Amino acid sequence: MASSLMYTQKVNTEILTGMDNSKIVGDTIQLERETYNAFIKMKDAAEKDGIKIKLVSGFRDFYRQQIIWNNKYKKFTKEFLLDGPSAIKEIIRFSTIPGTSRHHWGTEIDVIDKNFENEKNLLIAKKYEEGGIFNSLKKWMDKNSEKFGFYIVYDDDDKRPGFEYEPWHYTYKPVSNLYHTEFLKLDLKSIISKTKLAGKEFINEEFIKKYIDENIMGISSHLK
Ligand SMILES: [Zn+2]
Repeated sequence: MASSLMYTQKVNTEILTGMDNSKIVGDTIQLERETYNAFIKMKDAAEKDGIKIKLVSGFRDFYRQQIIWNNKYKKFTKEFLLDGPSAIKEIIRFSTIPGTSRHHWGTEIDVIDKNFENEKNLLIAKKYEEGGIFNSLKKWMDKNSEKFGFYIVYDDDDKRPGFEYEPWHYTYKPVSNLYHTEFLKLDLKSIISKTKLAGKEFINEEFIKKYIDENIMGISSHLK
């Protein structure tokens, strides 16, 4: 309880939307402090079992997500000549709206097996299944990750809306559950309107409501 109180008191809008990285620690591995410590413990335990976990994505800030978004928006509207709303619909199949990524919290990890780090197109669900190069990592994670606080977010439950199945993406539940609760209190429309997000004029109340219902709430039932 002490830790949850500490977080609800200190987590503000900038931290929740990736505009403030003051809670992030680490150099090559950048994560929120408690997540970082838990991740290192899990990584060491895995190594003892012969599994080498490699983090390919941890903390990602708002500005980096905004560059990704704006580049895609430009491509879809200028090259493929889509109108604004259609371009946005296309972008959010694979990318989050800047300010709304769980990676902004520093509590999320995308992991692969270090033995195969030079492979192309690492984050493909099939590679984590039986016969895939990341299957032994996946089996170890299935058996052990929750002991360290890490849970799958975008699971393979057919009834779950929002983003597709991501077997590589785990969250550090003790911290991210609090962030998620606080995040839902934010006025996203007002936050987005103050950014330099391309196409922000098409992100209206109705769009945001649907996005929250499907993409933000479309997480594993183990996290609810
Ligand atoms: Zn991820």
